[in-house]
Amino acid sequence: MNDADPQPNPFAAVMDIAPRPPVVFASGEGSWLTDRDGRKWLDFIQGWAVNCLGHSPKLVLDTLALQAGQLINCSPSYYNPPMVALCTRLAQLSGLGQTFLANSGAEANEGAIKLARKWGSKFKAGAYEIITMDHGFHGRTLATMSASGKAVWDGLFEPRVPGFVKVPFGDLEAVKAAIGPKTVAVMLEPIQGESGVWAAGNTFLQGLRALTREQGLLLILDEVQTGIGRTGRMFAFEHAGITPDILTLAKGLGAGVPISALVAAQEVCCFDYGDQGGTFCGNALMAAVGCAVVEEVARPAFLARVREAGERLTAALDTLSAKHGCGKVRGQGLLLALDFGRPVSKAVVDAAFRRGLLINGPRPDSLRFMPSLTVSDAEIAEMITRLDGALSDAAVG
Ligand SMILES: *Cc1c(COP(=O)(O)O)cnc(C)c1O
Repeated sequence: MNDADPQPNPFAAVMDIAPRPPVVFASGEGSWLTDRDGRKWLDFIQGWAVNCLGHSPKLVLDTLALQAGQLINCSPSYYNPPMVALCTRLAQLSGLGQTFLANSGAEANEGAIKLARKWGSKFKAGAYEIITMDHGFHGRTLATMSASGKAVWDGLFEPRVPGFVKVPFGDLEAVKAAIGPKTVAVMLEPIQGESGVWAAGNTFLQGLRALTREQGLLLILDEVQTGIGRTGRMFAFEHAGITPDILTLAKGLGAGVPISALVAAQEVCCFDYGDQGGTFCGNALMAAVGCAVVEEVARPAFLARVREAGERLTAALDTLSAKHGCGKVRGQGLLLALDFGRPVSKAVVDAAFRRGLLINGPRPDSLRFMPSLTVSDAEIAEMITRLDGALSDAAVG
């Protein structure tokens, strides 16, 4: 901008909460986005693992149109058919008892924290403390930020919500040592997504399940990112052969529309009337989409394809990593990360952007891949070609 010809900033009124690039995405289809200038972009972020069926999938369009013509919202204080159907289906699929539908991952987690505290107040002599993990991520409300273990959030928005005790992720002895008379639950992600795709591992999850049972504590799994097929199973906890007491879901559940779920074992569902609610919670429009998405993803052939695509992407990234002297590939299904072993991810993300590839660098030393669960082999190959170029541009290797 120069003084003679001042250009008004068209984005000035959009609250500046992230360093957004000056591109405006106008439409999308499957793994591809198109910006306002007509340029096409290959999207391996998909709204941060949200668009599990890609951009604007026909299933979601059809469901929205049909449901919007019947009923959009009539308050969580009344039943509506999609609300009942989705709550029932999620309880069935998870092996749990009841579901509360909400609008975001943070809201579902906030509900999980409230439910655990309520249960502690009713059945565990007022215990309220929740053991959470270093580097965990549970959302951006005050309580979920306090539950999260992001070091950069220390000291932010003080005073923090009390009642969260942090332990190192994966350390069962540390969890045992942190248990006290006020402890009511242990809360974690089966795979820490935001912090860079780190799996809790089956042994740790099984150990936590046994420990929480033995100690009469609740096990809360935040599957906001890993749930709804992302890891190649409907829920990531299936890999470990365990069932939590409380489960939260969001991102993939709506395939891009805002819906989340708090699912809990029958004996834990102890909210009194008025404890939980929300104007938009359980609205028919979003719940109808949730039903359609869950039916699609729950098909054995769909989940088998996610596992196959995950293996294909892992193998291709391994080959690329060897070529450029990068590190390991980690993760499960279509939630993967490539480690560089050095802080180059920003340069690679920027170089990929210039090549029309949207990719996320959750840490300075690694990339995260969260494509549509419907990503094709050809799209995986195209992503690898662009990433190969980006790694050369960024002089990695
Ligand atoms: C994204 C995410 C959240 C927060 O979900 P929002 O819908 O952004 O509030 C919570 N937990 C995990 C594991 C997530 O990945």
